[in-house]
Amino acid sequence: MSKKYDYLIVGSGLYGATFAYMAKKSGKSCLVIDKRAHIGGNVYCESIEGINVHKYGAHIFHTSNKEVWDFVNSIVEFNRYTNCPVANYKGKLYNLPFNMNTFYQMWNVTTPAQAEAKLEEQRAEAKQSLNGREPQNLEEQAKLLIGNDIYEALIKGYTEKQWGRSCSELPAFIIRRLPVRMIFDNNYFNDKYQGIPVGGYNKLIEGLLDDVEVRLNVDFFKEREQLESIADKIVYTGAIDEYYNYCYGQLQYRTVSFETTIEDTPNYQGNAVVNYTEREVPYTRIIEHKHFEMFGQDVFNCLKSVISKEYSTEWKPGMEPYYPVNDALNNELAEKYRILASQENNVIFGGRLAEYKYYDMAPIVEKVLNYWK
Ligand code: UDP
Repeated sequence: MSKKYDYLIVGSGLYGATFAYMAKKSGKSCLVIDKRAHIGGNVYCESIEGINVHKYGAHIFHTSNKEVWDFVNSIVEFNRYTNCPVANYKGKLYNLPFNMNTFYQMWNVTTPAQAEAKLEEQRAEAKQSLNGREPQNLEEQAKLLIGNDIYEALIKGYTEKQWGRSCSELPAFIIRRLPVRMIFDNNYFNDKYQGIPVGGYNKLIEGLLDDVEVRLNVDFFKEREQLESIADKIVYTGAIDEYYNYCYGQLQYRTVSFETTIEDTPNYQGNAVVNYTEREVPYTRIIEHKHFEMFGQDVFNCLKSVISKEYSTEWKPGMEPYYPVNDALNNELAEKYRILASQENNVIFGGRLAEYKYYDMAPIVEKVLNYWK
């Protein structure tokens, strides 16, 4: 390992892999290391029964940024998958995001005017209890956005399961991710472009890391001194608190565990994503992986199906961190680490864990592309 690289990239997830691609394109030398036995971080897929299984949770690429879309499509072709999750609340199905289908299912209203009237009635109640105040937390924000009926059936239980905290303790911004539509449109995202790489996410990561030196099963913290000496700059994509040896204390994360099974049917639930929104069902959602990449007759040509039940728990050392918990206490702590990070001359901190930010995939790619501009 005596060679001096321009960049040591710690982590081969989407941030690290895109960074390596851009660095290589600019004539820089890179070494990518990853503590896991595979590349791709949490976008990695495992092939089971010929189906690409999103090992670390469902990933759907969506963006309105044409440059980002063109960039990822220059690495691998994307399919036409459009995310239309369905919510199951006590056995009854509702379409997501909140749109005319949901309002029809919830209130039996059939026109936008009827739905608007019903929403206004519910929002007025929320406004009254706010008494002129801005919404301070997720519960207040959700009721103001969509009213009590939908909050109780489709938001409260799901959110409390996912975050392990009461909606009144969670930040309002989480729920602002979800669109509210007065049309019959079940597309979960508002973005112009959306899809899944043809052949799965591994194709994207392999394309980005083509011709880049990668070493797997290498733990940065076990060989830190030696690794830090082999490159001019470090691109660090792991958890920021771990980088600083938890000197101010540990940041909190949510982690997800999956119960993955092979089902003896070509079509288990008829959709890639079904959310179970009541508190009493222990998992948050069931993913049926084939629907991300198989459409029409292809679904039935593949006789089996692979499903994952997703359980959300608090992160503990030794587990994989997934979601930063961006409540006031954690944000304050993260800010202290970010101040330390901003004083580093030769270390770039990037991605969900290193920035402690609830990033989607496309903004990660955008950030790296902007860095190289
Ligand atoms: N959410 C909800 N009910 C649902 C789906 C989502 O209340 O059926 C809320 C929940 O608080 C969640 C947030 O919306 O944390 C964002 O959901 P999204 O599906 O965007 O999260 P991700 O796919 O990143 O897990």
